[in-house]
This record gives sequence, structure tokens and C-alpha cells, in this order.
Amino acid sequence: MKSALFIEPNNVQFTQQEMPVLESNEALIKVKYAGICGSDIHVYQGHHATATYPRIPGHEFVGELIDFQGKMKNGIEIGDAVVAQPFFSCGNCPSCITGYDNVCEELKILGIHVEGTFAEYVKVPIKKLYKVRKDMDMRLAAMAEPLAVAVHDVMTAKLEIGDKVLVSGGGPIGMLIAVVAKHAGAEVTISEVSDYRLNYAKNMGFNIVNPIKDSLKEYAKTINDGTGFDTVFETSGVASSILASTAAVKIRGKVIIIGIAKENCPFSTNDVYSKELQILGVRVHSQYAFARAVSLLDAGVLDEDLYQILDDKIYPLEEVEAALKYCIEDINHFKTLISINS
Ligand SMILES: [Zn+2]
Ligand SMILES: [Zn+2]
Repeated sequence: MKSALFIEPNNVQFTQQEMPVLESNEALIKVKYAGICGSDIHVYQGHHATATYPRIPGHEFVGELIDFQGKMKNGIEIGDAVVAQPFFSCGNCPSCITGYDNVCEELKILGIHVEGTFAEYVKVPIKKLYKVRKDMDMRLAAMAEPLAVAVHDVMTAKLEIGDKVLVSGGGPIGMLIAVVAKHAGAEVTISEVSDYRLNYAKNMGFNIVNPIKDSLKEYAKTINDGTGFDTVFETSGVASSILASTAAVKIRGKVIIIGIAKENCPFSTNDVYSKELQILGVRVHSQYAFARAVSLLDAGVLDEDLYQILDDKIYPLEEVEAALKYCIEDINHFKTLISINS
């Protein structure tokens, strides 16, 4: 099969690879679209702590179910359009046993530790599969995985109707969190330094703030009668934003840590203590959040906003390297897709 292959950091080639061989309880999927995620870029640049090479990259995708071994999940048939939760857990560690398989001690992610989706075919465990409507725009269905991240993060925050939330970082994940939070009834402000992204977010109906021009601590004094944001979603991974997050959140508010920082960042433990803050980490997503993301896609309730996040420019499989460079060098867009068999 045709596939992209990370040979080593900063070296991706378009190659022919062996077809995946199915083992029991696995499904074979003919990939239609695959999305580029920040973690693919980390692996490409050699910044991912646990990635191994050579590796077929990619974990966000939609495709057609071609074959399977074992018992298929109820309601899914050969030929159906499917998406999948793209990670594998051991099933035996304390996290897995208690139902938190997304923080498995031996978590393996498609495209990072096992062969991924920037290929004509990919295999996944049957239990990870979800069917999507065949008449759905497959480009939107390809966003199921990052949408599940956003759903998981918003669920973790336990948002309430009318909450004022700050999303720090207006990249693809920040924008998806903003969309899901808005859908959950929150009033969303996006903090971002790129003027392009700020204007884009404003046109989507979000409040905006540039933390270089206006301090987040001061800006937060205009929120909730001066008390600050109910919840801050920190997606930037930037030290100054992480430090500002505890200043911008209200007493007894929540800070959700999503962004992957290059190194450990200082936190105001005094803010955490004196304001009785809750600092919550989130990793990938629960299977429950993934199922919810699929049902939101099926219902079509987020389509209008998702189209705003989807980039018009779609790259063929042969041009994965050009697509990665485009994502690294030009941030004036959000979710970039690779087209395969579509
Ligand atoms: Zn991703
Ligand atoms: Zn485990």
C-alpha cells in the first residue's frame, strides 16, 4: 500500500509498505481523509519524547470498513464509514482496570508508537470503531478525534450554562474547545497572539484578547463582575500563558492543562492555594468522550463551526511533508487534512 513514512526526524518519504495483517478483534480500514495534529509535527521534528522510527504517522482519520477478524460491534457492517479512537491501552494497569484507559501506563498511540493513518489502509481494534453517517461530509468526520479531545476537556471542566471561559491558545484544539464550550452554554474568550487567528476567532463570535497587548490578569477583571473566568483551558503550552492562567481564573475556579509544554513550567502555587483553585490535567480522551464527539458529528449541530476550522487546502498522500511544513511555517489556518482514496 502507498504510505507516508517517518524514516527519522525531519525525514518523511512517500513509500510502498506492507498491508496491515489483521489479528483477532481487529478491523481493516481504507482511509479516506487523515488530519494533521500537533503531535504529528512533534514526531516529525523529533520533539516527541516516546516516538519511535520508522513509523507511518497520523492518528486522526475517517475511512471505510473493509475487513475484520472476530465479532464486529453491533450495527457496523463492511462498507460503513468509520472513525476510531486511535490509541491502545494494556487493559491490566491500575488506570485501565479503573476505566481510565486514556492514562494507561503503557499507552500506545497510532502514528507515534504503532503504524498510523497517513496510508491507504490502517488497522485498529474493533472495540475502538465508531460508525458515522455515510452521507456526512467525510472531511468533517475526519475531525472526530480532535473533536473528542475538546469534548473530553469540556466534560472534565464540568462547565455550567453561562460560565465565562478563557481558551488560552487559538490553534486547532483551542478553537475546537471554544466551539464545544460555546455549544455547552459557555461564553468564550480566546487568548492568542496571532492577529490572523484573533480576527478569525472574533468572526466566529468569540471574545478575543491578545495577552501581549493586554495582560490577562487585567482583562480578567472585566469578567464575572471582576472576579475572573470560571474556567481557563490552557492549550498553548507557553510558560507565560500557564503563569497567567491562575491569575485570570476566579476564586475556586478551574484551570485545565491541555497544551504540551516543551519543558516544565512555573505555576503560581500561591494563586492555587489562596484562591482554592482546581488544576486539572487531561490526556487524549475517554472512550465516552469519543462516542459523544461522534454523536455530535452525526447530529450535525457543530457543522457550521467545524467548517470554519477546516482548512480549504487539502494535500494528497504524496505530499505529507509539504503539508507538515505548511502547518509549521504558516499558522494562518487551522485543521489541515490529507486526502487518501477519496
Ligand atoms: Zn491529535
Ligand atoms: Zn493500562
